[in-house]
Amino acid sequence: IHSAIHMAREDMNCVIHTHTAAGIAVSAQDHGLLPISQHALKFYGKLAYHDYEGVALCLDERERLVNDLGTHRAMILRNHGLLAGGQNVAQAFYEIHFLERACQAQIQALAGGSKLRYPSEQVCKLTASQFTDDDEGMRMIQMAWEAALRLIEDQREDYCS
Ligand SMILES: [Zn+2]
Repeated sequence: IHSAIHMAREDMNCVIHTHTAAGIAVSAQDHGLLPISQHALKFYGKLAYHDYEGVALCLDERERLVNDLGTHRAMILRNHGLLAGGQNVAQAFYEIHFLERACQAQIQALAGGSKLRYPSEQVCKLTASQFTDDDEGMRMIQMAWEAALRLIEDQREDYCS
């Protein structure tokens, strides 16, 4: 999975792939990620899907993975988990963190059993456009990464030893 993306996308130097409970659960939902949270709206119109083909050991799946990813940076691997990447570790972490939180929120919202409320399409598009990777956006992403590292350092001094 990782080699496929690295071979095809020069803008994705870091690729993160997870098997979290919420990510797997959303990957199994036919409707995919719903635009019901700010975290999910970051991916409005910017999220790819790849159908499950079995444990990813067949090299010919790489071409289909890359085709399905297209120009996006994040993808739901159906019946499997999540994938996201970026120019660097900070951006890849930012992407997978938002996607994971969006999945967690969706599973909990659906478990709540109430009718869901959806923002208008205009608001969905606006919100997606507010997450940018221009200089200002990348500065914010770097700040978020440094904050994440501080959180880890506070909890586990030995995390990098
Ligand atoms: Zn996997």
